[in-house]
Amino acid sequence: MKLTILGCCGPYPAAGGACSGYLLSQGDTHVLIDCGAGVLANLARHIAWEDLDAVVLSHLHYDHMSDMLPMQYALQFHPRQAPLPVYAPRTPEPVRALLDAPCYDLRPMEDMRIGEIAFRFHPGRHPVQSFALRAECAGRCFAYTGDTNTLEGLDGFLSGADVLLADAGLSAADWRAQAPHLSPEGCANLARQSGCGRLLLTHLNPKYAPGALEAEAKVLRPDAEFVRIGNQYEI
Ligand SMILES: [Zn+2]
Ligand SMILES: [Zn+2]
Repeated sequence: MKLTILGCCGPYPAAGGACSGYLLSQGDTHVLIDCGAGVLANLARHIAWEDLDAVVLSHLHYDHMSDMLPMQYALQFHPRQAPLPVYAPRTPEPVRALLDAPCYDLRPMEDMRIGEIAFRFHPGRHPVQSFALRAECAGRCFAYTGDTNTLEGLDGFLSGADVLLADAGLSAADWRAQAPHLSPEGCANLARQSGCGRLLLTHLNPKYAPGALEAEAKVLRPDAEFVRIGNQYEI
């Protein structure tokens, strides 16, 4: 599989940046995971939105779904043979109602296949219903925490992933047990507990210097890196 970074900021984009958006591809299968502000513009550098097989939204905070609104215009002007399926949590209902597409509920621990890629989901710990995911194909596994803080059982769900993309939304100084995000240190601990092969960090809050948060992770996990728009990773 190939992972392409289309956006990696949260809860709002940095100058010239974009919020969460990750394109996961295998052969002719292209799945967009999250679709925050600025993601559509970056997606267009890689594939046409007509070629997407599905969109998976980890949760319905705006920094993970707001570009689904202009996506509706894009699809109006470039109609597809079949509607674009969107997989999303059922709540919050007022935000879910904005998704004017065939929309399917994400369900914990239910296997789902999109083209060549098999998906499985696990609830995260966040102020709204949120999901972590595993995506597997040809013996390789990509895992993404979505937005979450520490959660019992999450390491088991993510176990053995070749690449883990984790929510490092808070610095160690700002992190609290009841906060909505992990810290870089929390991501490193999660990667160790789950035995992941490679740790990628995301959800960079523009108020932090990227190097500062990366340094926090590298103390525990020297290979950890913050993803950047346009980066591609073979999984
Ligand atoms: Zn977020
Ligand atoms: Zn969120």
